[in-house]
Amino acid sequence: MATAARAQLEKALRWIEENWVGQKECAICGNSGWFMGEVVGEMKQMNSKSEWIPNTGPSYPMIVLSCENCGYTLLFNAIVLGVVEG
Ligand SMILES: [Zn+2]
Repeated sequence: MATAARAQLEKALRWIEENWVGQKECAICGNSGWFMGEVVGEMKQMNSKSEWIPNTGPSYPMIVLSCENCGYTLLFNAIVLGVVEG
């Protein structure tokens, strides 16, 4: 995972605040407090046999938003949020 610059995280937070129009309560515990990870994560692509191969192949950069209470996590595509160039 790459460390995200403060400006990247602030941009992601603004995007989420502007676009999150649905329920903000956690689907698991009902809490409404969320925190954003301090890094841009990645979701790796599996190969054609659905096998996970470490440190190879393309990945999707992800902004990670987690419930403060139970840790349930939402993932946002960082390219769509304009935080990372695709
Ligand atoms: Zn929760």
